[in-house]
Amino acid sequence: MKKKILYLFSDTGGGHRSAATAIVRAVDHLQKDKYSQEMVDVFAACSGFLNVFAKMYAPVIKYSPKLWGQLYYWLDDQRKLEQLEKISRPFILQELKKLILEQRPAVIVSVHPLVNHLTVRAIKETGLKIPFIVAITDPVTLHRAWISPGVDLYVVATPEAKKSAVKYGMPEKKIKIIGMPIDPKFLLKSKIGGRPRSKHFTVLLMGGGEGAGTMGEIVDELEASGFKGRAIIIAGRNKRLETKLKAKKTGFPLKVFGFTDKVPELMAESDLIVTKAGPGTIAEALAMNLPIIITSWLPGQEEGNVEFVVRENVGRVCKEPERVVRLIRELQSTKEFAEMKKNIKRVSRPEAALDIARQIFTFL
Ligand code: UDP
Repeated sequence: MKKKILYLFSDTGGGHRSAATAIVRAVDHLQKDKYSQEMVDVFAACSGFLNVFAKMYAPVIKYSPKLWGQLYYWLDDQRKLEQLEKISRPFILQELKKLILEQRPAVIVSVHPLVNHLTVRAIKETGLKIPFIVAITDPVTLHRAWISPGVDLYVVATPEAKKSAVKYGMPEKKIKIIGMPIDPKFLLKSKIGGRPRSKHFTVLLMGGGEGAGTMGEIVDELEASGFKGRAIIIAGRNKRLETKLKAKKTGFPLKVFGFTDKVPELMAESDLIVTKAGPGTIAEALAMNLPIIITSWLPGQEEGNVEFVVRENVGRVCKEPERVVRLIRELQSTKEFAEMKKNIKRVSRPEAALDIARQIFTFL
């Protein structure tokens, strides 16, 4: 029988699912069909109660990111996290144990901050010896909820993330700096290099899996400015935005997508991305050599990503739609744009998922 790798994630936004899928594909890429792999949405599968909170992520980050920030900082406290674990334990722990006993994985990999303490406990209570690896999908600023001393290996994206993990009690030798796991498709697309690029400057607008941010307003401003390039919008699960923009007539070519699995292809057609500071999207954009204009971010959780983009000079931050459009026009013809592309080559880690897969193999 094939050894099993069990992945724990949650469908909040798009980042956690993307990260888990990226590692699954990387494992398959390196060792085709050798292992059986399964992804489990922990909150949907194991807890009716907590799934209500998971489901709140989309509307909260769309309509009140501030509230998300408040919750983030409020929970940045060991005692409160222990309380939360206690409350959620009756809902999740039994189900997790059942899952582990049924599936008998050879290794468990988590890409979510809120399941790690409970998973450590669940493994222990089953009496099985199963290695537990956590790939942290917040590349710079880390919430302490991620860290549980019982985890066997943490994979992080940057030295800053490692520093935080150590601060929250992880021994250094259990932490490896590798990068954000992104789908190997990005690596393949970027290696081919021969982009089917249009001769017109192409701007890609994204807002994470939920289509958050001000994409609608930016399209209006592009139109008002007499934009001469092309624009591609990925509205994600934001149906309202998708419908509204699909009905829009613009003086420039505009392609609008809902939730799509063509992000690598669409990035390959683009010259610049305008986006929320989602960690997945930023890592993918860097892999595809796209300078980034960040227009929004989640307080707390995504602030480190914004600092990273500015500090490494791989993009800019600009909130007001009108200024974003001015920036798009100005940037393309500056030396700085070329400079940014050089910097991107230095900081991008398109192979991270493959390296994470190799780490997993060392436990099998
Ligand atoms: N994504 C996708 N299709 C879409 C929109 C988003 O596959 O239509 C993916 C995107 O490529 C990225 C993830 O969803 O991998 C978004 O993750 P990110 O960390 O940027 O933000 P989140 O959605 O988690 O807030």
